[in-house]
Amino acid sequence: MEITNQIKNIDTIQAGNSMYALAERLYPICRSITGNGVRETLQIIKSYIPLDIIEVPTGTKVFDWEIPEEWNIRDAWIKDDKGEKIIDFKKLNLHVLNYSTPVEETIPLEELKKHIFTLPGQPDLVPYRTSYHNRQWGFCMSHNQLVGLENKNYKVKIDSDIKPGSLTYGEFYIQGETKAEILVSCHVCHPSLCNDNLSGIAVAVHLAAFLTTIKPHFSYRFIFIPGTIGSITWLSRNENILKNIRYGLVLNLLGDSSPFHYKKSRRENTATDTILAYVLADKEGSEIRNWSPYGYDERQFCSPGFDLPVGRLSRKPHGEFPEYHTSADNLDFISGSNMAQSYLLLLDVFTVMEGNRKWINLNPKGEPQLGKRGLYKNVGGQSNQQDYQMAILWVLSLSDGNHTMLDIANKAGLPFNLLVNAAHDLEKADLLKEIN
Ligand code: ZN
Repeated sequence: MEITNQIKNIDTIQAGNSMYALAERLYPICRSITGNGVRETLQIIKSYIPLDIIEVPTGTKVFDWEIPEEWNIRDAWIKDDKGEKIIDFKKLNLHVLNYSTPVEETIPLEELKKHIFTLPGQPDLVPYRTSYHNRQWGFCMSHNQLVGLENKNYKVKIDSDIKPGSLTYGEFYIQGETKAEILVSCHVCHPSLCNDNLSGIAVAVHLAAFLTTIKPHFSYRFIFIPGTIGSITWLSRNENILKNIRYGLVLNLLGDSSPFHYKKSRRENTATDTILAYVLADKEGSEIRNWSPYGYDERQFCSPGFDLPVGRLSRKPHGEFPEYHTSADNLDFISGSNMAQSYLLLLDVFTVMEGNRKWINLNPKGEPQLGKRGLYKNVGGQSNQQDYQMAILWVLSLSDGNHTMLDIANKAGLPFNLLVNAAHDLEKADLLKEIN
């Protein structure tokens, strides 16, 4: 089944509900760059798509980095002098500094305060904080709660451990007609935060599941990795396949209602950049930004030693909305319909990627006689008959081996899919041949 035909069968509301349900299921899990939270998350993803789950042992050298010791946490709380829990990890896992060392002691407020992170500017919200590299223990709470704490003793407990284990990531490869592939990456290392990064996971999982229902031209590779260390690890284990990557996208922040933002790859003129510019051109409010070396895993994919054609698609970019990295990035902040919209946009992107090939006119000396091949229809019922006729002429005219289908679409000002259909019809009539 062709991608365009299959897209017509999508029930957008059902797709949105399914993505939201996945986000809901993943929300309570305490993820980090290593540990059982990532494993549990990948197992749930595996119930949607046949994911390979890879474990890379602590201490493994990955370029300039090393796989860290694994962090796991079972419980954490702060109790007041009456034994009441005033902070409970089981109610919200953001309350614990991610990668916190274990602790169990009774300390005065002044001492406790040294281990508390708050957001004085957003006093109702609990921040998300990590300490992957500096060993310390800590809690996160709302600033209002901290200000209200009485000057007494508090009992703190964090039941966690940091010890040799492994880093876990997931990978799903879909074999297409060609070895050339499209890489889709999203991070899986954030605990209870929705837009960052459950929306990216939910959309990517559903895209992958969709692609298993068609026979794609390109091969697709979806990777679900912890941020930074995960992409560096994946790159270090897959250098041999990087030459096959024709297009690539880092996906995240796809569940809010803002317009789309695309960040170009480092070269700023790769095929991925061109296609995103084309697809977003008529999306109101959308914005295309130039490369910068800050952000998500595109930093690693586009580092000069790889320089892959990988850009990043988000709605509101990270750090630019008040809910970012706080307890307000919860299930109320995202919606199924926003994720469904992101999903459909990405299917449009894949459609253009799938169709963006080069063809050669096999009858380049004069126009071929279209009438005798049934390709010139004077009497047509379709309203776009005239456009179709023009599409045939544009494809024949520019299929000299130098123009991609997107070049032709941009020049002709005709719908991309109409041109692709015209090319298929010309191919069937032996007037066109695809070149690689
Ligand atoms: Zn983040």
